[in-house]
Amino acid sequence: MLRIIPQSVHKIAKEQLDIQAISIAETLSKAGFETYLVGGCIRDLLLGKAPKDFDIATSAHPEQVKSQFKRCRLIGRRFRLAHVRNGKEVIEVATFRANPAKQPLNSKDTRQGADPNEADGHQVSENGLLIRDNCYGSVEEDVMRRDLTINALYLNVTTMDIHDYINAIPDINAHAIRVIGDPEIRFREDPVRTLRVIRFKAKLKGFRVNDATQNALQRALPLLSEVSPARRFEELLKFFLTGHAQSSFQHLIDFNALHYLLPVTAKYLETANSKALYDQALINTDDRIAINKHVTPAFLMAVFLWPTIRELKIGYMNKQNIPSFIALQKAVTEIIEKQNLVTSIPKRFALAMREIWELQERLPSCSLKRCEAIVQQRRFRAGYDFLLLREECGEIKPGLGDWWTEYQVATIRKKKELISTRQKNKRKQRVEKK
Ligand code: ATP
Ligand code: MG
Repeated sequence: MLRIIPQSVHKIAKEQLDIQAISIAETLSKAGFETYLVGGCIRDLLLGKAPKDFDIATSAHPEQVKSQFKRCRLIGRRFRLAHVRNGKEVIEVATFRANPAKQPLNSKDTRQGADPNEADGHQVSENGLLIRDNCYGSVEEDVMRRDLTINALYLNVTTMDIHDYINAIPDINAHAIRVIGDPEIRFREDPVRTLRVIRFKAKLKGFRVNDATQNALQRALPLLSEVSPARRFEELLKFFLTGHAQSSFQHLIDFNALHYLLPVTAKYLETANSKALYDQALINTDDRIAINKHVTPAFLMAVFLWPTIRELKIGYMNKQNIPSFIALQKAVTEIIEKQNLVTSIPKRFALAMREIWELQERLPSCSLKRCEAIVQQRRFRAGYDFLLLREECGEIKPGLGDWWTEYQVATIRKKKELISTRQKNKRKQRVEKK
C-alpha cells in the first residue's frame, strides 16, 4: 500500500538535495516522464547522514533519457542505465524495472516493456541468476526490483513528497535491514546483494539484519563465485573506499565472506596472529576519506596482499636460494594471478601495487645516487607511506621511515651526511652480526 509522506513530516529540505540531481529530475519530469530521487540518498538523509550519491529512477527508457541531455552515456549490459554528466559530477539515471519473467537461458524477452535493443530484456540462467535485467515497467514494479526495503524510497523533487510502497520508513526507524521479497530468490537472482547487505550493516551502525535475510544470506554466499571478477572488484572498492573500511573488513570476516573478495587475505588470517597491518591501513583510509583526501585502491590492495607476498618471498629465498628482489617478483606474479581469479585488478592498479612492493626492497638503499632516483619515482610517496605503515604496526623495527622523512626535505649536504651515517650503521650491524 502506497504511503505518501509530506515534507512537513519527513523534513528533508530541498537544499539538502544535489542541485544537479534536481535539475535532471526536473528536466525529465517536464518532458512528461515520472521521475524520482531514489535509494540510498533518501535513506541517508532520513538518517541524518550525507548521501554518497544521488540516484534517479524514471519512467523514461535509456534512449529517451539520452535524448534529453547533451552529456549522457548509456552504460551496462546486465543492467543498462544512463550516466548524465553535469560538470564533474555523474548522476545515475535508471529506468523503472519490471518483475523478472521466467525466461529460459539466452532467450530474449519479447514482452511489452522489454527494450528492443540487442543487449536488453530479461535473461535468467537455469539456477535463477539474472543475466540481463533490462525489462522496463512502472514505479510500482520498480519498487519490488530494489534490493532492500530501506533502499526503496522515492522522492518527488517537485512536491517534495516521499513515496513509500513497502513499509520502508518503519524499517528505517527500526534500524532493520530486510531484503524485499523472498531473500533466497533475490540472492539467487543477483548474489552481489549478499555483499550489499553486509556493506550496509557495516555502514549503518546499529542496524540489524532480519532473520530471514540473515539465514538466506549465509546459504547464498557461495553463489558469489558466479559473479564476474570485474563486478566483484567494483564491490570490493565500495566496501573500502566509502568511509567505513575498518567496519567493512570486520563484517566481511564475521559474515564469513572475506574469501569471496580477498581469498589470499582470508587464508592468511586463518593462521596469522595479528591483523594489525590491515587494521591500521583501514583506519588510515577512513581518516583520509573523512577529510576528503585521495585514497588509491592500489595502496589498499597492496596492503591486503602484502603479508602473503612477504612470506612467499622469504620461502623462495630460502628454498631456491635466489636474491630477495627476484623472489619478490616471483611472489608478486603468483599472488596477483591468484587474486585476479576472484576480483580482476585493473592493470594500472596492479602496476602501482608492484611498484609499491618493489620500493620496499629499494628503500633500505645506501647510495646517494639510488636514493635520489627513488625520490623521483612516481610511486615514491605511496611506497614511503607503505613503509611507515609496516613500521607502525610492528612488522619491521622503526627507523627507516624517519630517515626518509628527513631525507626528503634535506639539503644536498645534509643528504650526504644522512647517507654516510646510514652506511656506518650498516657496517656496524654487519660486524655485530659476525
Ligand atoms: P550508497 O550509494 O550509499 O552505497 P545506495 O543504496 O544508493 O547506497 P547504489 O549502489 O548507489 O546504493 O544503488 C542505488 C539503488 O539502486 C539502491 O538504493 C537500490 O535501490 C538499487 N540497487 C543497487 N544495486 C542493486 C542490486 N544489486 N539489486 C537490486 N537493487 C539494487
Ligand atoms: Mg547511491
